[in-house]
Amino acid sequence: MKLTYDFHIHTALSPCGENSMTPNNIVNMALLNGLDAIAITDHNTCQNVEAVLQVAKGTELIVIPGMEIETKEEIHILCLFEELEAAYKMQECIFQKLPDIRNKDKLFGEQLLFNSEDDIIGKEERLLTQATELSLNEVIKLVQFHKGVCIPAHIDRPSYSIISNLGMIPSNMNLPTLEISRHANYETLAKQFSNYSILQSSDSHELGFIGICNRQIEVATKSVRGIIERINANHPC
Ligand SMILES: [Zn+2]
Ligand SMILES: [Zn+2]
Repeated sequence: MKLTYDFHIHTALSPCGENSMTPNNIVNMALLNGLDAIAITDHNTCQNVEAVLQVAKGTELIVIPGMEIETKEEIHILCLFEELEAAYKMQECIFQKLPDIRNKDKLFGEQLLFNSEDDIIGKEERLLTQATELSLNEVIKLVQFHKGVCIPAHIDRPSYSIISNLGMIPSNMNLPTLEISRHANYETLAKQFSNYSILQSSDSHELGFIGICNRQIEVATKSVRGIIERINANHPC
């Protein structure tokens, strides 16, 4: 079956995410735009995923626990997990390797933590938008250990992407699926990277972009596991 997805959405926990990116606003916007599945992918953290999962409970919307990890090489990698617990374990590894630099609200934006009522329950003090000390290879190994899947993010972008920073996609790293940005031409890039599955997501930092790519993924079962298995499979969408 086909699921309409958006697998790259930031909450207001990302300093660059607007404060309106709350759990209820995100879930309601996703449902309004006819999405079947979303992933919450804040920079180097998964701390708002639980609230989004709680809001989506009882609706048809699938929410995948995730994060957008920045490797030592300054490459952004979307990491999706079947279970929230696994995402938290991954975050523990990330926080050990994330420089302890304080966020500056006024300069970078607030990093807000929510409960399922959209109440602000705290702020993450450490700046989340910085490179971890983990290499791409180390991130991939850790994510695989936690039974997650890695997707190089916005590969068409001139910065923070695997292509811009490495010049290529290492063939020995088991990365069967790539993400292109909402600005990219899907057909052109799907042709250029025909040995890969290509996903196109919004990288929403504000509500208006959620679901804007309107892409679908073919899965065997409508579940987080079904989606992760599909992303791990080595054949084009
Ligand atoms: Zn990014
Ligand atoms: Zn992003």
